[in-house]
Amino acid sequence: MTTIYPPEPFRIKVTESIRLISPEAREAALREAGYNLFALKAEDIFIDLLTDSGTGAMSQEQWAAIMRGDESYAGARSFHRLKAAVEDIFGFKYFVPTHQGRAAENILSACLVKPGQSVPSNMHFDTTDANIRARGGRPTNLVIDEAFDPTNSHPFKGDMDIDKLRAFIEKTGAANIPFGMVTVTNNAGGGQPVSMENLKAAAEVYHEYGIPFFIDAARYAENCFFIKQREPGCEHQSVKEIAREMFSLADGMTMSAKKDAIVNIGGLLCVNDENLFQRIKNELILREGFPTYGGLAGRDLDALAVGLYEGLDEAYLAYRLGQTAYLAARLNEVGIPTIQPTGGHGVYVNAGAILPHIPNREFPAQALAVELYREGGIRGVEIGSVMFAYPDPDTGIWHYPRLELLRLAIPRRTYTQSHMDYIADSFAKIKGRAGSVRGYKFTYAPELLRHFTARFEPL
Ligand SMILES: *Cc1c(COP(=O)(O)O)cnc(C)c1O
Repeated sequence: MTTIYPPEPFRIKVTESIRLISPEAREAALREAGYNLFALKAEDIFIDLLTDSGTGAMSQEQWAAIMRGDESYAGARSFHRLKAAVEDIFGFKYFVPTHQGRAAENILSACLVKPGQSVPSNMHFDTTDANIRARGGRPTNLVIDEAFDPTNSHPFKGDMDIDKLRAFIEKTGAANIPFGMVTVTNNAGGGQPVSMENLKAAAEVYHEYGIPFFIDAARYAENCFFIKQREPGCEHQSVKEIAREMFSLADGMTMSAKKDAIVNIGGLLCVNDENLFQRIKNELILREGFPTYGGLAGRDLDALAVGLYEGLDEAYLAYRLGQTAYLAARLNEVGIPTIQPTGGHGVYVNAGAILPHIPNREFPAQALAVELYREGGIRGVEIGSVMFAYPDPDTGIWHYPRLELLRLAIPRRTYTQSHMDYIADSFAKIKGRAGSVRGYKFTYAPELLRHFTARFEPL
């Protein structure tokens, strides 16, 4: 496939109806939801771009695998099929399945993070950030400065700033850093990839200081395909070979299988350290389940074992990244600025630039998210001050993120090109009335992971 936007490398065998409710019904739904799109009924949404997590379409091979699920409590055949796939693709010595990525993060944090300790990364995703904080730890983001410039087209904007990492470790002390991470691709920073060169450099610095290195691998396959496309010297490697090389640099990984393993539920936690693995198993038994099923059904393990390979298929990856690029190009055509270059799993709309009259504390990206539902019945997700503003634990002063983004996450193998066109047309209409869109204030907000359950009122 050499076209920029390769056609879907599949045809559709099963369909699910969607409908656009009336503008009045959308307005009522918004009011009832407290203007938080997480609180809408899914049936009231026409195109749902809230997340690409667990929302993809499974293949006929995955559905067939579901029927082969072995529901034995311990040592099921399903577990061993998954184990073979995990060992083949990732190459770590030990692994446990978990029910989601955050369960892997919780268990890892429970085993390793002590209060006051820091965990650096290029950029932590929200659940990783919260799981480290929940153990009294301090997540720290050290991505390159280019990541914060939405117009800079650096090919690997997810890269860790290696100088900042070294300086941070020197200042903090390696003893206060139980492990370090890199997130591939950088979800919170726009789905931007990390280069192999940068992963090698980050691994080298972590290991120089004796700090275990974990990869947050939710979208590793998309990241590896970007490496193949963009990194000199990698174009002749297969995506799987690139993946093997990537994971050979690390001491372990956490993964939400709901992303690049194209399943509706599941996660993985992999490590090389036998001692740590023992502690992980004990935590897992306490919180998730026996180590050969980890909170999943046997059938889920089988769907995951198949999905891991489908997520690495290069015809699929070319179509997948092409669809995201297509939506971004259509939006840019109608004057909607998006983070450049376009990331893997979604288009990140620069809401701050579209609604410059709304200050951070009045949540411009939330305002744009509400407007998109109002206009087209489309659900995106705020990645801005609702999700990431927090008070400093020492000073109490509020920190606001540097970008106010509306993420349009694209579920895998789920929507077609004409859906993408409809989304761009809806944005064009919003653009015409952007000056009159107003901000929001909280009427309720919990302390951690506020975006899921907060309620708002228009200003
Ligand atoms: C989704 C995601 C997680 C959390 O995984 P869940 O399966 O939603 O619990 C962690 N890190 C990244 C980068 C993610 O995208």
